[in-house]
Amino acid sequence: MTGFPMSIVAPHVRKHLSADALFHLVRSGFASLSDHRLDDTEISLTDALMSAFAMFSLKAPSLLAFDKERTEANLHTIYGIVRVPCDTHMRAILDPVSPKVLRPVFKSVFRQLQRGKALEPMTFLDGHYLLALDGTEYFSSKTIHCASCLHRVHRNGSITYAHQLLGAAIIHPDQRAVIPLMPEPIVNRDGTDKNDCERNAAKRFVAKLRQDHPHLKFIVTEDSLSSNAPHIETLHAHGLHYILGVKEGDHPYLFQQVQAAEHAGRVTYYERHDRAAGVVHRFRFVNDLPLNAAHADVRVHFIEYWESSDIKVQHFTWVTDIRVSKRNVYHLMRGGRARWKIENETFNTLKNQGYNFEHNYGHGEQHLSVVFAMLMMLAFLVDQAQQLCCALFQAVWAKLGSKRLLWERMRALFYTYALASMRQLFEALLYGLQKPTPVFGFDST
Ligand SMILES: [Zn+2]
Repeated sequence: MTGFPMSIVAPHVRKHLSADALFHLVRSGFASLSDHRLDDTEISLTDALMSAFAMFSLKAPSLLAFDKERTEANLHTIYGIVRVPCDTHMRAILDPVSPKVLRPVFKSVFRQLQRGKALEPMTFLDGHYLLALDGTEYFSSKTIHCASCLHRVHRNGSITYAHQLLGAAIIHPDQRAVIPLMPEPIVNRDGTDKNDCERNAAKRFVAKLRQDHPHLKFIVTEDSLSSNAPHIETLHAHGLHYILGVKEGDHPYLFQQVQAAEHAGRVTYYERHDRAAGVVHRFRFVNDLPLNAAHADVRVHFIEYWESSDIKVQHFTWVTDIRVSKRNVYHLMRGGRARWKIENETFNTLKNQGYNFEHNYGHGEQHLSVVFAMLMMLAFLVDQAQQLCCALFQAVWAKLGSKRLLWERMRALFYTYALASMRQLFEALLYGLQKPTPVFGFDST
């Protein structure tokens, strides 16, 4: 299965950002974690973590499906796994692993992207990245539960158990790829029935973000649930800018202030016509308003925006700490609107594009469900890095037309042929396999 017509110019692969290089990086990150087990080290923690990572990287539909193929030699060659645990063994090894130990692995992949200048196309405004945050639920059950499950107690006394996380991704209005950071799990604390919540998770997330990346410049974008004074103060305390959704129903005081500013002639109007797209962008904005009556010291800048075409009008409102002018309002609007990428390009991709985010790969009693969610996000990060900066991956994706088909073909090749690398696999998907010509021996006697 070697070779392809030499007239075709092979798409450029950036060596340190290739899937092979990133798998290697992930594996060495796992190898530096200390093994919590004193006995039973027949299969190393590194192999157990890497096997789960490979399961998500290959988009195996279930742990059982992955288990069936676990003798596959490519798991050794491509993912560097020495011994693949069976499904029960993998669950047993990973259940006690504290999810927070995985943070350095996310960070090392991120650093590699920075060093390779892969994040340059993601800068949004004056060297700032746009960072979208949003909570999502990926598991709920009336029967299956663990020590970290959230509890929802119903009126009849029954309980629904659930898992949520606060997702975070660097997004850009012009880029389809997103770069996820390590999510913050929203979990029960220490097996009590005290529920964690998204707001607390956001507080922890922001503090860890600053520990990991003390000098990076961010503009955080979130939905209107986040537009509250304590959260804005948290963002401010950590040197983070923001563009946050607001709603008239939730922020009546702010909208009254906008009306008052309107009467006082303090509101600025701005219009921009995009004739090619048949769209008119209309804005009104006013700087320096109190967010609400109780926190008059928290001052925000307000943007209202209408996008009108022949078919429909879309309407949005945001607050930001970046002073709004006719010069930057269009750009800020695009940043605010890009927020949907955390839902669409991140959570929906994980749920519907082969990753099976809501599938229960195994729940465990302690952390397993959370560890699996983190490893899935890590596999997604490596895939997104390919999507952002690997021309070979992009060419294969364009040729096959959908991620689903890409993963399907990828798995089929992975489980059929002995491969030396992911690069070889992607090249085979792009150029096709060259079947060896049968060699017939002639008996000359
Ligand atoms: Zn649970």
